[in-house]
Amino acid sequence: MTENIGFIGLGTMGKPMALNLLKSGYKLTVFDVEGSAIEALVSEGAIAASSAKEVAEKTEILVSMLPASQHSLAAAFGPDGYLSGLQKGSTVIDMSTIDPDTTRQIAQGVTEAGGQMLDAPVSGSSAWATTGTLTIMVGGDRKVFEEQYSLLNCMGTNIIHCGEIGMGETVKLANNLVAGVSMVAVTEAFALGISKGADPKVLFEVMSKASGNCWTLQTRCPAPGVVGDSPVNNEFAPGFMTDLMYKDLGLALAAASQEKLPLALTAIAHEQYGATSRQGFGKLDFSAVAKLLEMNQNV
Ligand code: NAD
Repeated sequence: MTENIGFIGLGTMGKPMALNLLKSGYKLTVFDVEGSAIEALVSEGAIAASSAKEVAEKTEILVSMLPASQHSLAAAFGPDGYLSGLQKGSTVIDMSTIDPDTTRQIAQGVTEAGGQMLDAPVSGSSAWATTGTLTIMVGGDRKVFEEQYSLLNCMGTNIIHCGEIGMGETVKLANNLVAGVSMVAVTEAFALGISKGADPKVLFEVMSKASGNCWTLQTRCPAPGVVGDSPVNNEFAPGFMTDLMYKDLGLALAAASQEKLPLALTAIAHEQYGATSRQGFGKLDFSAVAKLLEMNQNV
């Protein structure tokens, strides 16, 4: 395979995703604002670009994996952004989790430059990015989705077309709402049980086999020493950072407010992650929200 793919944003997620494209045989031209992130990919066989614009000039399929809306906007519309170098007929796939309205704004810019766009945010950890087993939620024209399916399949195993442009982001925000709220619920359950003398291992065993079972319980049990690879046993190394969960729940609330939809639990969970970040734990895994309930203060 000689197809030349551009990749912008080579951080926690972007780096392993880009590596999987290289391993699948694609030629890769890469850019990140951090030079060291580019060098790490070049040492694996990628070609360095000095700007997002240069990536667009050298490739016809561009993937981006950036932290938040402002970064996706800068990479697209900034002075050296990819829109200033986009070739007609190019496809942009933004895999960042951002505001659906921002996605549509960027898509309009891509269309005006003669290209086409998919939004394709992902669910899963950096470990899933490494193994190429992400779940990918895609918005945009179905024909473009089908054209890019095999590329996306190098990075994920569950690739689902969710509707028109921006709908991948909407579905992603709905998914993360469940993860964010349920993490707070699991934490409260353990705080209550432990404060009343329950054995955390018994709590986990019962909840795993009862109606309290959920993904956050299984991957992020907040009591130390119960689930081997839970972040609490590794100084809350992410995983998925508290600041990213705060951002995603904020995006969900902003989208809901457009519909005057009262997402009460989401609002409370959003405040909890904000408070966790204010205490200095924003870069820790989002299960560090347990620290607010005086759990795991020394972890
Ligand atoms: P990250 O901060 O680790 O990486 C982002 C990279 O983008 C960095 O290397 C940064 O230097 C680069 N960057 C920022 N602005 C840029 C610009 N204008 N041009 C080029 N490069 C730029 O973030 P991440 O954890 O990889 O997350 C990326 C996205 O994936 C986020 O939207 C996040 O919500 C989402 N996500 C993350 C996870 C996770 O577990 N980390 C899981 C699912 C989804």
